[in-house]
Amino acid sequence: MFIQEAPRGFEVDSAGFIQKLTDAVGEEFIHTDPVALRTYDCDGLTIYKGIPSAVVLPVSTEEVRQIVEICREYRVPLIARGAGTGLSGGATPLPGGVLIVFTRMNKILELDYENRLARVQPGVVNLHLSRETLPHGFHYAPDPSSQAACTIGGNAAENSGGAHCLKYGMTTNHIMEMTVVLPTGEVAHLGADGEDSPGLDLRGFFIGSEGTFAVITELTVRLTPNPESVRTMLACFAKVGDACRTVSDVIAAGAVPAAMELMDRYTIEAVETVVQAGYPRDAEAVLLIELDGLPSSIRPLETLIRDISEKNNCSSFRIAQTEEEREGLWMGRKKAFGAFGVIAPSYYCLDGTVPRSKLAQVLEEFDEIASSYDLRITNVFHAGDGSLHPNVLFDDRVPGETERAIECGAEVLRACIRAGGVLSGEHGIGIEKIREMKDQFDEPTLEIMERVRDAIDEDGLMNPGKLIPDEENVFPVAHSGAIARMGGGMTK
Ligand SMILES: Cc1cc2nc3c(=O)[nH]c(=O)nc-3n(C[C@H](O)[C@H](O)[C@H](O)COP(=O)(O)OP(=O)(O)OC[C@H]3O[C@@H](n4cnc5c(N)ncnc54)[C@H](O)[C@@H]3O)c2cc1C
Repeated sequence: MFIQEAPRGFEVDSAGFIQKLTDAVGEEFIHTDPVALRTYDCDGLTIYKGIPSAVVLPVSTEEVRQIVEICREYRVPLIARGAGTGLSGGATPLPGGVLIVFTRMNKILELDYENRLARVQPGVVNLHLSRETLPHGFHYAPDPSSQAACTIGGNAAENSGGAHCLKYGMTTNHIMEMTVVLPTGEVAHLGADGEDSPGLDLRGFFIGSEGTFAVITELTVRLTPNPESVRTMLACFAKVGDACRTVSDVIAAGAVPAAMELMDRYTIEAVETVVQAGYPRDAEAVLLIELDGLPSSIRPLETLIRDISEKNNCSSFRIAQTEEEREGLWMGRKKAFGAFGVIAPSYYCLDGTVPRSKLAQVLEEFDEIASSYDLRITNVFHAGDGSLHPNVLFDDRVPGETERAIECGAEVLRACIRAGGVLSGEHGIGIEKIREMKDQFDEPTLEIMERVRDAIDEDGLMNPGKLIPDEENVFPVAHSGAIARMGGGMTK
């Protein structure tokens, strides 16, 4: 059995500890074999690796409660893991410890169409909920591009966004109630299934805490009625700045499309080589815009968006005429990240958010930063809410290039902060951006975060070393080379 040395002097009586975990979940649902453990050594941010001491797969809140109590007794860190698609290292067991994996807690417990609610376990895959409810006229609106794999528990822990969150709001707007196991082993219920819940909004407080406050074991989420109709359009531009101005002008004019996604020249080149979505190869940028709602409300918005695009020199404007054509346009966006493989061996996907009015300026700055590191950055992002995904393209086989990509990424994030934006639009802080938290927040603000965390997690056992900088919990970081290798079949 392998138990990694933990930095805070966690004392582990290995045999007794593992036996208790085995009693809690059953022999079949605990892994301690070094080879099995290695398969859980990172999430989607593959540069940081840590081997867990054990992996457990509980099936109920009660089993999770027991695991938390055992870890508390032995002072062993614990880390929750949904699908491991996170891109900031949140589910990476850097300090070792016990990884609680939610693969078995994947049941939709109740569908209440009358009250437009679903009660689910945290391991339910995001897209599976919508697949179940779509025929009944509803869907689960937050749609991260990883929705075919990521879990609703992971989405809650990260407060995930997605293409349609521009109109429908982020994950926090869709979670009504959560059952959580606190670091003390107590079970708490946060929020309520009504529109408002009395008392402090602890639900909102725990959402986005990246597994550092509690383990989520059940969620009640909002179901959104399917739109009456949908119109998808593609506006193409010879200048990225013109596409960015179109985005801010559309929102300033009072229109809120369901989605507004921007792809730049390199992305178009990659997408057209791989999936032929029909984006013009000579464009510097394309905007994929989707409107939804009653046909009578969509029509005037369609005209407005076309006029604004033309005023901003769009070179062509196309509206999908069939469902097949619409799917084709979205296919390009959804396959963009996988397609980068044809233009670079590796990429480092960042996320930062800036005010929409600053989009053109920061994209120019990204180009300058990339040149200064002798690298390229390509952009494909949720433009409507200023949520950027700059991707640093590099070749991890070239000595030193991975390190340069990481430095270039940190510079990009600092540029977002300088532009009045934030470190993360949706991927969270995790390990990846923990050092930059000091660039974003002043001392007193960071201290409040630390005090809150310490009050909830006195022993510092819940996902230590993530989200909130902590001098005591800085773990040595092992670089493994590429950040995102191509050919993994993931789409974003
Ligand atoms: C190709 C690709 C596309 C992506 N697109 C988007 C996107 O459009 N929008 C977006 O927001 N993100 C996106 N992501 C990032 C990622 O998918 C999201 O952060 C997602 O919410 C992670 O879910 P997961 O189940 O994989 O969680 P994991 O990666 O397993 O965990 C993420 C964090 O949540 C914590 N956690 C997981 N389950 C629980 C639980 N039950 N209780 C407490 N804490 C828990 C973990 O400890 C960790 O800190 C993308 C990732 C990839 C690889």
